[in-house]
Amino acid sequence: MTDPVELPPLTGGCLCGRVRYTARGAPTFELNCHCRVCQKITGSGYTPVAAFAEDAVRVEGEIKYHERLGDSGRKVWEGFCAECGARLTGKAETMPGLLLLQAGSYDDPNRFRPTADIFTASAAHWDAMDPAIGKFAGMPEM
Ligand SMILES: [Zn+2]
Ligand SMILES: [Zn+2]
Repeated sequence: MTDPVELPPLTGGCLCGRVRYTARGAPTFELNCHCRVCQKITGSGYTPVAAFAEDAVRVEGEIKYHERLGDSGRKVWEGFCAECGARLTGKAETMPGLLLLQAGSYDDPNRFRPTADIFTASAAHWDAMDPAIGKFAGMPEM
């Protein structure tokens, strides 16, 4: 085992620049989610999402949260810039203490290293995936 390398803080923000965030430490998980909700929310094939400890992320600017019930029957919140509408964050009752960040909003999206594709059963045929990472038809055990 080698000592963990201290990464520089992860920075990112929305399209218009009113919301900025800084995350410290390593993400709890990094996944590409191809569920229908992620498709609807992003207007795209999937959501590249990383989870960080909520208290390790500092947010400046106003994030507006949309609340809904997830498949679990528990509450889920998707966060958007109140001004430009760019999707930035997410929270879930089933994941207390974690803040989800949309990897496309990173200042350097190459910091994102997804380990798996989830909800591949609902992926669109035009949604090409990296064959080198794990595949789960639905939600994996975490
Ligand atoms: Zn904005
Ligand atoms: Zn999803």
